[in-house]
Amino acid sequence: MISAVDFTLKPEIADLRDRVAEFIRSECIPLEANPDNYDEHENIRPEILSGIRKQAQKVGLWAPQIPKEFGGMGLSMTGQAVIYEEAAYSIFGALALNCAAPDDGNMRLLSMVGTDYQKKRWLQPIVDGAVNSSFVMTEPHPGAGSDPAGMMLTKAEKSGKKWIITGKKWFITGAGAAQHFMVIARTSDDARKGLSCFLFDKDQPGWRISRRIPIMGPEEHGGHCELEFSGLEVSEEDVLMAIGDGLKATQIRLGPARLTHCMRWIGMSRRAMDIAAEYVRERKSFGTSLSEHEGVQWMLGEAAMNIHVSKLTTMYAAWKLDQNDKARKEISMAKVQVAETLNSVIDTCIQLCGAKGYSKDTLLEWMYRYARQAKLVDGASEVHKMVLSKIYMNEGQDFWKWKIQN
Ligand SMILES: Cc1cc2nc3c(=O)[nH]c(=O)nc-3n(C[C@H](O)[C@H](O)[C@H](O)COP(=O)(O)OP(=O)(O)OC[C@H]3O[C@@H](n4cnc5c(N)ncnc54)[C@H](O)[C@@H]3O)c2cc1C
Repeated sequence: MISAVDFTLKPEIADLRDRVAEFIRSECIPLEANPDNYDEHENIRPEILSGIRKQAQKVGLWAPQIPKEFGGMGLSMTGQAVIYEEAAYSIFGALALNCAAPDDGNMRLLSMVGTDYQKKRWLQPIVDGAVNSSFVMTEPHPGAGSDPAGMMLTKAEKSGKKWIITGKKWFITGAGAAQHFMVIARTSDDARKGLSCFLFDKDQPGWRISRRIPIMGPEEHGGHCELEFSGLEVSEEDVLMAIGDGLKATQIRLGPARLTHCMRWIGMSRRAMDIAAEYVRERKSFGTSLSEHEGVQWMLGEAAMNIHVSKLTTMYAAWKLDQNDKARKEISMAKVQVAETLNSVIDTCIQLCGAKGYSKDTLLEWMYRYARQAKLVDGASEVHKMVLSKIYMNEGQDFWKWKIQN
């Protein structure tokens, strides 16, 4: 049964949101201003993070996306939309609550499709915050990028009871700090059933990190790495879903993972707005405060409107997922909309802060470099638009039709 669209919050979610906001303001934001709290890759130092994670666990603000039986908060997607956005108001917030990429998507996938053994072996330690994880799909040229099903070159071949993996991957977020990995490899040439997903541990032989790729922005812990597989052996119990279900596993993971990116990016956009608002309220030009100039008001108004549109598209897609709809087109629209908004809002906020916006005296500069990846990760904007165009050409006017309640 489809419930009516209603984005008013249940009192318990509103209460949770307020508790997260308070936690972020008291535990995370005070850490941001001190350069000593950052590692060499411009992220929070692991030992500082471990302190705020313990604190978050103690007050029960931990793993909002994971069922309670594994130690999470068991929230619906719409509930997560509220909480993730609030957490990402601080650049350290999602990590503090254990809802940052890539662990977020990896945990969600394992909790949805893992066997009991796989949940115990691979999921539970990530939920507990004992280990980090990586999702290993993208390959350097001529391998898989925007078109994983058609272009995947990494192979898994059966030898006795084991699968033997060979090939190259790159841009694998967090690989330098991860213990648990899920890798997508080709097991046949079937167009839909040609890929499979395998779980492995950092300490298994037969693979290595050949390079940590230097990037434009601040890095997730463990960076973005290039990996070589020279005969990694995986047993049958560590195949996630069935052989041939790799593309399905990827789609199950990437749908919600794209949307939780959107939730966090909205939180970051809201923070950028507050930084700019504080500046334009105080700073004067031509005899009046910047906020009194109509040109400045248009910039702030447009940014506020874009964030609101982003919230609506994200919440709508989350609501659809909660109705057991795959929300394919809604997630693609949200991903494009929010990635564009994040980039344009931060750019506007830098402009409004004048020279200070270009400095490292505010977080805007960090955010600006971080935000650029949003238009690339988990599918480039153009690829999502291609998907939307295909759906439109198939559905025609039905593309925009509201569902009827039953
Ligand atoms: C910061 C960061 C973190 C990442 N983390 C991970 C990770 O943890 N694990 C992982 O497996 N991968 C990861 N990736 C890889 C990411 O998923 C890919 O970059 C993305 O899917 C695009 O693939 P590509 O880079 O090979 O681009 P390509 O496929 O080479 O495409 C290049 C460009 O061509 C255009 N293009 C491509 N196809 C079309 C089309 N059909 N129509 C119109 N234009 C098109 C787009 O503009 C696209 O940006 C990460 C990437 C970045 C930047």
